Amino acid sequence: MKAFIAANWKMNKTVAETREFMKTFVPLVKDASDVDIVIAPPFTALAAAAEEMKGSAVQLSSQDVFWEEKGAFTGEVAPGMLLDAGCRHVIIGHSERRQYFHEDDAVVNKKVKSARKAGLGVIFCCGESLDERESGKTFDVIRREVEMGLVGVEPEQLVVAYEPIWAIGTGKTATPDQAQEVHAFIAGVLTKVYGNKSGIIRIIYGGSVTPDNVDILMGCKDISGALVGGASLKPDSFSRIVHFKKEK
Ligand code: PEP
Repeated sequence: MKAFIAANWKMNKTVAETREFMKTFVPLVKDASDVDIVIAPPFTALAAAAEEMKGSAVQLSSQDVFWEEKGAFTGEVAPGMLLDAGCRHVIIGHSERRQYFHEDDAVVNKKVKSARKAGLGVIFCCGESLDERESGKTFDVIRREVEMGLVGVEPEQLVVAYEPIWAIGTGKTATPDQAQEVHAFIAGVLTKVYGNKSGIIRIIYGGSVTPDNVDILMGCKDISGALVGGASLKPDSFSRIVHFKKEK
């Protein structure tokens, strides 16, 4: 299965900074043909990023989307507008959106359906908090988020990102065993929902992925890629992650 390595820049980088990053980064990953390389800049930098990655294999993603096609929804951006800006993917259900913008499973599901209907690939995020992990609820939370978030969604162009909330931006990575355990569980849930077709869904890990831990994480059986925040902001560091070497 082709690996899927995505950068989530969150609320970072101006247009000028985006251009500067791309000018260095795109040549660094010219040789990486066996990996899907995806970058999700903020909305304001999508057009500049699209221009700078033109002609390369790097793919553009948005960090969010609204579910309606157009109309009186001040501040929101429709799936068609993202396609128009050059996006091929969108991140949906990130824990920061669930936490700060109160997006629940129903909202996440509406966004996923609308994005897929428009033809965008979806990077669907799920993950448990530290409290949930410590009280033994990890699998229940993950099952609920995956089943409810993906109701009525076909498996094509779907990537599931497992992002334990306690590992995001904290420097605390899940151990390869912890990550693998949940990835295998997600694979099982997806098989129940999609049967054999679930094999086309890549399950990627996110949570303090760096050049130092990517090789061991990518060596895990059910980890097919990474969603990277902090370590994706520097071209050298993100390029090293794209050039991971599976370690057993
Ligand atoms: C993320 O927010 O998707 C993420 C994984 O962030 P970080 O790599 O900084 O933990």
